[in-house]
Amino acid sequence: MIIIGAGTSGFPSAKIAANYGKKVLLLREGALGGKYLEKGCIPSKAMVYATNLYKSALKAKDFGILIDNITLDFNEVLKYADTLVHEGIQGNEKQIALYKNVDYIKKNGHCLNENSIEVGNVVYTGSNMLVSTGTFPRIPPIEGINTIWQTLEKFYKTSQVAELKDLPQIENLIREIFNS
Ligand SMILES: Cc1cc2nc3c(=O)[nH]c(=O)nc-3n(C[C@H](O)[C@H](O)[C@H](O)COP(=O)(O)OP(=O)(O)OC[C@H]3O[C@@H](n4cnc5c(N)ncnc54)[C@H](O)[C@@H]3O)c2cc1C
Repeated sequence: MIIIGAGTSGFPSAKIAANYGKKVLLLREGALGGKYLEKGCIPSKAMVYATNLYKSALKAKDFGILIDNITLDFNEVLKYADTLVHEGIQGNEKQIALYKNVDYIKKNGHCLNENSIEVGNVVYTGSNMLVSTGTFPRIPPIEGINTIWQTLEKFYKTSQVAELKDLPQIENLIREIFNS
């Protein structure tokens, strides 16, 4: 069985197929664990969790809890999210290595027909193929949206949120959108 893409769908599918005795070829570009781990749920929920903690700390004095110098260090938040992502990827790499009937290639491939794929110059053939290559963000065709994109340069696709280096100035962004 050939599985293209090792995200939330491809990675567990490879393990399930292997557990049923299939010989699996698993291909992936990007992280083992896909968008969910690398740019989706895990980093975004780490940021949401950190934000909630920060908000709770700001409100803590209403409950009689006094905390001095509450500051949000966005770099530390990003570091925390990054650590979770890297630990997750390493854990997945260790797991897949345990599956002796899964050949795992860290390259992208493209389908030649319903049973064959090409990876570099090599062609692989399988009895079944699962295409689990995920989705990509797309800017919706809303009139004027490209102008906002070009002038503000602050229009984040989900894939870019995980790559932020500084805390976005959301208030400025909202103000500028309303002004434009
Ligand atoms: C910001 C954000 C937050 C999210 N939060 C949640 C959440 O809280 N809970 C939840 O359930 N879901 C969440 N999601 C959705 C979740 O990430 C997706 O539903 C999930 O990743 C889809 O899995 P997938 O396997 O279909 O695709 P992906 O995870 O995108 O995996 C596909 C993989 O295939 C690889 N690939 C593509 N083309 C090729 C090729 N030709 N050859 C080899 N490999 C290839 C890609 O690089 C990728 O690694 C979130 C998504 C985002 C963006």
